[in-house]
Amino acid sequence: MRVNGLVQKMHTSLKDGIAQYFLKMNDHEINMNDLIGKNISLTFTNNILCSNCGQYTKKSYSQGHCYLCSQQLASCDLCIMKPETCHFHLGTCREPEWGENNCFTPHIIYLANSSGAKVGITRMTNVPSRWIDQGAIQALPILQVDSRIKSGMIESSLKQYINDKTNWRQMLKNEVDLIDLSKIRDELIPKIADLIENTSAEMVDSVNYDISYPVIEYPTKIVSLNFDKTPNIEGIVKGIKGQYLILDIGVLNIRKFSSYELEMAVN
Ligand SMILES: [Zn+2]
Repeated sequence: MRVNGLVQKMHTSLKDGIAQYFLKMNDHEINMNDLIGKNISLTFTNNILCSNCGQYTKKSYSQGHCYLCSQQLASCDLCIMKPETCHFHLGTCREPEWGENNCFTPHIIYLANSSGAKVGITRMTNVPSRWIDQGAIQALPILQVDSRIKSGMIESSLKQYINDKTNWRQMLKNEVDLIDLSKIRDELIPKIADLIENTSAEMVDSVNYDISYPVIEYPTKIVSLNFDKTPNIEGIVKGIKGQYLILDIGVLNIRKFSSYELEMAVN
């Protein structure tokens, strides 16, 4: 098989508890789980085309945009990374209509275990993809609110008690123990009772998600592969976790190279 096109982050879904990965390149949608154990070659053609305007850009900004779009799109604004800093109410949203459709929709606050317990938020529609993108092996939605800013307020309050970051090296080495997330939730909820009331947050049905990944061998040492330094990357696919392809020669963060034009060959 030989395909080429602009890469985007892998689309994910959960089937029988196993993360499923799909990579879209032009009109092709490649089932990445099928590539485990195979030899693949990925070659960067030196073209990066902005995922919004399609213009050539020398460097990728905000995961696949040209500089101009990264400065103008609401989806590239800092408040997307730090939702508690949403400034829609000040009338300064870069794209108010986009904001209404994306930030004033149901959001959930969840606990997950990617490299230990962490808190996070996501749009309801991103469940369970959000957790797969982070390489979480467990997840538990805990609260639901009606806007992004409220989810950010709750998350930033919970950060006093629990981590919000993933140690991606640890996640990729699979140095992660199972955790009782329900127990952590029960300890955390009373600490933010006032905020829950003020944001009208609702408890959600406690569904514990267990997620396994298509991996035949986890790396013991992490070597980061990078198309900017090595335009041709070739190796045997040992697995996929988070947005990382685990090859025998190192790991490749596919999302980081969004909008890069690649040629892919599978043997
Ligand atoms: Zn652009």
